[in-house]
Amino acid sequence: MKKNIRFFIIGFVFTVIPFICYANLAPSVPLIDIKAINPEILVYLVYSTPDNFTGKDLYGHISTCYLRKEAALKLDKAQQYLNRLNKGYDLLVYDGLRPRNVQYTMWDILKGTTKQKYVANPKTGSIHNYGVAVDLTITDENGMPIDMGTPFDFFGELAQPRYEAKFLKSGKLTPKQIKNRELLRDVMTHAGFKGISIEWWHFNAFSIGECRKRFRMVDKFPVKK
Ligand SMILES: [Zn+2]
Repeated sequence: MKKNIRFFIIGFVFTVIPFICYANLAPSVPLIDIKAINPEILVYLVYSTPDNFTGKDLYGHISTCYLRKEAALKLDKAQQYLNRLNKGYDLLVYDGLRPRNVQYTMWDILKGTTKQKYVANPKTGSIHNYGVAVDLTITDENGMPIDMGTPFDFFGELAQPRYEAKFLKSGKLTPKQIKNRELLRDVMTHAGFKGISIEWWHFNAFSIGECRKRFRMVDKFPVKK
C-alpha cells in the first residue's frame, strides 16, 4: 500500500505538475496594444524605420507596441504617475515586444561586427522577446524628448547609468540631464519596473528568471484582426 502511494506521488510530480506549469504559460497571458490601455503613452517604434543602429527597417508595417498585459498595466501606472509629477509630460516608447524572428534578423545583420555584443543571442533570448521589457524616454509639454545626455541606442559609457557620477564630475553630463534620467527611473520604478546599469532607456517588468517561469518567448508579431 505504502509503495502504491509512493508511485502515485512520483507520478504526480513528474506528469501533473509540469503540465500545470506548462498550461499556465504564455497562451493565458495576452499581448496588449499599450495605446489601448493608455492612449496618452506615445509610441515611435525605431525598429519600424531604417533610423536605428542596424540601418534597416526590421518591423515593416508594425507600428503598435505590444506588451504582456501585466507589463502594459505597469506602464499605464508609470504614465499616470508621470502626469501627476509633471503635467504635460508623457512617456515615449521606442520598443516593447520584439519577437524572436526579429531578434534573429538583428543578430544576423550584426554578426561579426563590433555592435554584435549589444544584441542578445536569439537562442537564449532577450526580455524584449517575452514582451515584458520596454525602451523609452519622456517628452515635455511641447512633445519634444527631454535631454538624457545621449540619444536612444547610443553605444558607449555615456549612456550607462553606472557611470553617471563620473560623467557628472567631468562635466560630460549636466545636472539637468541626470535629473531627467532620474525622473524616468523614478516613474518606472514607482510602477514596478527595474532599470539596468548599461542603458538609461531600458526597463524590465520582470527579471529573466521570472520571465522563464511565467511566459514563453514570442516568435512573431500578433496579427491584428
Ligand atoms: Zn531594451
